[in-house]
Amino acid sequence: MTTILLVEDEAILAETLRYNLEREGHTVVIAGDGAQALELARREHPDLVLLDVMLPRLDGFSVCRILRGESGVPIIMLSARQDEVDRIAGLELGADDYVVKPFSLGELLARVRAILRRGQLEGSTVPREVLQSGGLKVDTGSRRVWCGSEEVALSAKEFDLLTCLMRHQGMALSRDLLLQRVWGYDFMGDSRTVDVHIRWLREKLEHDPGQPQLLTTVRGIGYRFQEAAPLSASPPQP
Ligand code: CA
Repeated sequence: MTTILLVEDEAILAETLRYNLEREGHTVVIAGDGAQALELARREHPDLVLLDVMLPRLDGFSVCRILRGESGVPIIMLSARQDEVDRIAGLELGADDYVVKPFSLGELLARVRAILRRGQLEGSTVPREVLQSGGLKVDTGSRRVWCGSEEVALSAKEFDLLTCLMRHQGMALSRDLLLQRVWGYDFMGDSRTVDVHIRWLREKLEHDPGQPQLLTTVRGIGYRFQEAAPLSASPPQP
C-alpha cells in the first residue's frame, strides 16, 4: 500500500487525480495549499508527492525545497508553465520529475508507476551495499548518506547519481550514460539535468563546492568519483 500526497489547489483536478490514483490502489491525501502540504507530508510520510507549482500560501518550488531538506521522498512537480527555466528550477530544487499541464492522465500515471517501481526495486531485490570512500558513507539499503558523522539528506535522484558514480570509482562516466542509468531511457530532459544534480551534490558533500575533490568534472565527457586517499594514511617515512 502506498500513500501519495497530492498538492493541488484546483479542486476538480485534485478530485479527478484522486479517483484515478485510488483506482490504481494508492491511498491519496490531498493538500490544497503549500503550508498544508508540509503539514501533511510530515504527518503522513507519503511514498510520493505530486506537487503543483502555483499554490496559495506557499508555492510549489518552496514546498519542494523544504521537503527536500527533510526527506528523500520522490517528488513529481505539476506545472502549467512550459518554459525550460521552470523545468530546470524544479529539478534543481530536488524534484524527481516534472509534468507540464495539461498532461494526459495516462502519462502522469505511468510516471507515478515508474517512480514507485524504482523505489520498490531498490527496497526489496537489490542487495544492500555500504559504499565508503574517505569520509563519505552510503547505505543503499536505508538510502542514507553520511559525510563524516553528519547525515546528509539527498533527493532520490541525487542519491542514485551518487551511488552510480561511487560504484564506478575512479572511472569517467559520460553524461549520457549517467542520464540513462539514473533517469532511464524515457526521461525527457537533457544532459544539463546531470550537471544540475552534480552541482547540487557538490554543494551538499564537498568542502569547497567550487573546488570539488570528490565529484570531479571530466572535460568533454562527464564526471568521475575520485578515489579518496585513505584517511589513515600516515605521512611518508623518511
Ligand atoms: Ca495551482
